[in-house]
Amino acid sequence: MPVTRTTCPYCGVGCGVSVTRNGIELLPVAGDSEHPSNFGKLCVKGSALHETLGEQRRLLYPQINGARATWEQALDDISARLQKTLREHGPQAVALYLSGQLLTEDYYVANKLWKGFVGSANVDTNSRLCMSSAVAAHVRAFGEDAVPACYEDVELADLVILIGSNSAWAHPVLHQRLLHARKQRPGTKLVVIDPRRTASCDQADLHLPIKPGADAFLFNGLLVYLADNNALNHRYIKEHTRDFDSALSAARASAPTLAAVAEVCGVEVERVEKFFRWFAQTPRTVTLFSQGINQSSSGTDKGNAIINCHLATGRVGLPGASPFSITGQPNAMGGREVGGLANQLAVHRSFEPESIKTVAKFWRAPNIAKTPGLKAVPLFEAIERGDIKFLWILATNPLVSMPEAERWQRALKSCETVIVSDCVRATDTTQFAKILLPAAGWGEKDGTVTSSERTISRQRSFLPCAGEAKPDWWALAEIGKRLGFAHAFNFQNARDVFVEYAALTGINRATPLQLDISELSAINRAQYDALAPFQWPLLNGNGARRLFGDGNFATADKRAHFIAIEPQWPQSIIDKTTPLILNTGRVRDQWHTMTRTAESERLNRHRSEPYLEIHPQDAAVFGLADGEIAEIFNRHSKAWLRVRIEPG
Ligand code: SF4
Repeated sequence: MPVTRTTCPYCGVGCGVSVTRNGIELLPVAGDSEHPSNFGKLCVKGSALHETLGEQRRLLYPQINGARATWEQALDDISARLQKTLREHGPQAVALYLSGQLLTEDYYVANKLWKGFVGSANVDTNSRLCMSSAVAAHVRAFGEDAVPACYEDVELADLVILIGSNSAWAHPVLHQRLLHARKQRPGTKLVVIDPRRTASCDQADLHLPIKPGADAFLFNGLLVYLADNNALNHRYIKEHTRDFDSALSAARASAPTLAAVAEVCGVEVERVEKFFRWFAQTPRTVTLFSQGINQSSSGTDKGNAIINCHLATGRVGLPGASPFSITGQPNAMGGREVGGLANQLAVHRSFEPESIKTVAKFWRAPNIAKTPGLKAVPLFEAIERGDIKFLWILATNPLVSMPEAERWQRALKSCETVIVSDCVRATDTTQFAKILLPAAGWGEKDGTVTSSERTISRQRSFLPCAGEAKPDWWALAEIGKRLGFAHAFNFQNARDVFVEYAALTGINRATPLQLDISELSAINRAQYDALAPFQWPLLNGNGARRLFGDGNFATADKRAHFIAIEPQWPQSIIDKTTPLILNTGRVRDQWHTMTRTAESERLNRHRSEPYLEIHPQDAAVFGLADGEIAEIFNRHSKAWLRVRIEPG
């Protein structure tokens, strides 16, 4: 029976999946035993993938103003509207809104089209909401958005810290790898730092239920503790870093003593002291951070507060010792590599003159964007003001996932041209599209994704496209051709796109930047099809497990940079009308806005709807009972959610 080895489309762990067909029948999926992310394991979401492939809710053909259209008609219409907007209002009036669900090949063509040929850097993504804080923290500290660690480090560490991460639910296979390793090496300690007592706390040696938003105070306090308890790596700080003194001064100003840290975090001083002592005494420490750190009004500072402590102890990119940002989406990393964020140009290059010149020459781009574009929230604000008149949304549902969703509904309604490419027919966002394009879904798409540990894996197709669905890179390239740039968008398949992307990363070879897979720029179709998972950068056929372990970083002086952190509290407004802080969390068996996972009856048995968890004391104050519907609101939005009384 034919077996296809592909990659799970859900989270940033990036598990390998084996799909077997018996004639036309698809057998239940299994974990790919040879994939380095999961070695055969899958979580409950991944193992239900075959249950979510039905065509019932699929978008099967293009539509213009709600009426069925051909691809020719839809693409011609998009091209005409785009050219008209560019003519009348210029490149600042057009935008793409992308997604960490796209494949790297989709991202590459989108980024090239918009920044190189349309001349607009208004290319942002839902990854902005989940990952941009980590991106910025990496760039500030290391000189590049490069994750230094690999999954094996979680198994080799003697102390694992989870902060802003309920990995038991959000990254289950990685969490299981951690728990399995602890069984083999029972001395490994696990610390969970989270305002809630989540499932990840079940096996923890220590839980620090800090106040929401106190993370940077805690890690500033840790830096002070390390300095005052002879736990700094002075040689490393002197030889491989800069600006330590200013970072320590800022830390002392905001978190001078253990007692002050305990008070500001709302945690007993003994717990804080135990955590600090364990960190100081354990050279092999990995700090996993995720959305609880990133999704914050000061997420970048929180990321750097964590990285500062790892730099101060020389624990970066070493076996079992590193800060480790875990991505939410399956290909947020690939999008970051390609450059699919408004403040990046391409392949980890920003908008400085030398990079603009080099990338323009490579693309033979006549009209390259020269300044950063609008990031996600300012982008939607520009739509609201009427400054953006043409918006193309691909593979995401921002009217659920953006903060202040109701406001953006009104904005999309008033936007002259909204195009949505999706594989699902009816989402909260598709109803506002003037033009709908049916996108190929998982099992139909062909390309690559990058996991949290920089592993690039193939997503392979094993099904024909549903209805008239097409890959997103194809639709974008067709627009490039219609704009008169056929020479630059004449891709025949995903391999053609991949090799061009790989070749472009070669411009980094003579620089301190690490992203370079240019060795793959000449692979043929058969080699692309057979591509085994590997970690970037790729040199002489070998992927790098870890980065920066030798103390040389991607900055001009090769030194890592400490960042002075002045912690900020969340910008929530607590008053008589809105007296509670609402935090967000993840549901174990669902993914994103449930457009795919809700197709599986099995997955709906765990939690079939979003809900409000509230402590019994708060529930008593507001007269809420378990199972009731509560109305919650803030200045911007309102929601009705079923109540779960939860002491954690
Ligand atoms: Fe898919 Fe993530 Fe589960 Fe792995 S852990 S099977 S990548 S959802």
